Amino acid sequence: MPFDPIRSLAKARHEFGEHGGVNMSIEASTTFTVMQAGTMPDIFGGHVGPETEGGGCYLYGRHFNPTVYALGRSLAALEGTEAAYCTASGMAAISGAVIQLCQPGDEIVTARTIYGGTHALFENFLPDRMGVKVRFVDAADPAQVATAMTDKTRLVYCETVSNPTLDVANIPELARIAHARDARLVVDNTFSPLIVSPAQHGADIVVHSLTKFIGGCSDIIAGAICGSREFITSLMDTHHGALMLLGPTMTPASAFDLSLRIPHLGLRIPEHSRRALLFAERLADRGVPVWYPGLPDHPGHGLLKGMMNEGFGFGGIFGIDAGTRDKAFALLDTLQNKHRFGYDAVSLGYFETLMSCSGASTSSELSEDEQRAAGILPGYVRVSIGYTGDAEDRWAQFESALVEVGVLSKTTA
Ligand code: PLP
Repeated sequence: MPFDPIRSLAKARHEFGEHGGVNMSIEASTTFTVMQAGTMPDIFGGHVGPETEGGGCYLYGRHFNPTVYALGRSLAALEGTEAAYCTASGMAAISGAVIQLCQPGDEIVTARTIYGGTHALFENFLPDRMGVKVRFVDAADPAQVATAMTDKTRLVYCETVSNPTLDVANIPELARIAHARDARLVVDNTFSPLIVSPAQHGADIVVHSLTKFIGGCSDIIAGAICGSREFITSLMDTHHGALMLLGPTMTPASAFDLSLRIPHLGLRIPEHSRRALLFAERLADRGVPVWYPGLPDHPGHGLLKGMMNEGFGFGGIFGIDAGTRDKAFALLDTLQNKHRFGYDAVSLGYFETLMSCSGASTSSELSEDEQRAAGILPGYVRVSIGYTGDAEDRWAQFESALVEVGVLSKTTA
């Protein structure tokens, strides 16, 4: 039977509250007692802990915390991985996972169209501070990935659906290429939780910014790393673990808040997707250049259809080309300030619509040449569609703004 993330989540162990509460309690302690002094060195040595046989045995809040660990178990169930742990941000999850896998002299092969912050980590921070060489390729062409691999390549990196241009990664093929050279495939699944389960297609490690769709309310910055029990345990190693030693710790209160968002993720994602498809189809009908993997002529449409889980649609994000940066800005101003359609703000996955001109915001870490190579046009506007209000009213606002700023002519509208 194919993997079903909703069934998997339903089977995950439920954590009751301290007094039998239906919601788990928040374990707000920064430190934990042991009942026998001899247990302490065993925890430090990694011989006992929540991921070892018997479970339990917590040490200190920067190491495993029970509430954060319970949220991690939900994310492992959602992605179908053995284990998962949560971090203070999506960037902490990405940098933690990558740093754990690489040493000076190692190499990374990455898709060139990725979130601007990750791009900067790969282009500047890792080479300059850690001596890790990063090769950027067009991952839509797996042959380019294979050619860029060397004996020093430790990991291949991509986003399932890329930020901001919505390229779709061929995860099975990238996994095959990575594994043939004994490298790991790390996939950022932030744009497509539930929609695609990268680990089921060969990804070794799946990272998330929980700040986006999974959090869903634009109120918490958070991240997660999903992978094998061995990898998650290694991140907390008291001598070599990237999470233990760099310390990007999620607070238990955030873990509790986020745990309450997971049960209805399966209801929210289809509505984001339904509205995004509605807008994308109408935009395409009216001749506006639109990017959405749910449209049959999107280059990644077939690929995504082949990987996606049933019932969640093609995701809540689409992009349009307003033609020029000035027109993009005028569109954002009109949509936000005149029509109250949504917000000109970075981020995504909120219940309200968030929109921004990618080249001038979340991809501005890329140079003009890099933006061109990544397919990010100056007037490209990324829209994370919300689900408040009536969908037809929202479309009327959007169409009207497109006409007002001259992206669409009155006759075509
Ligand atoms: N991954 C993707 C695809 C993103 O879009 C972002 C942020 O926009 C991140 C990771 C970073 O997440 P965070 O802001 O939670 O650190």
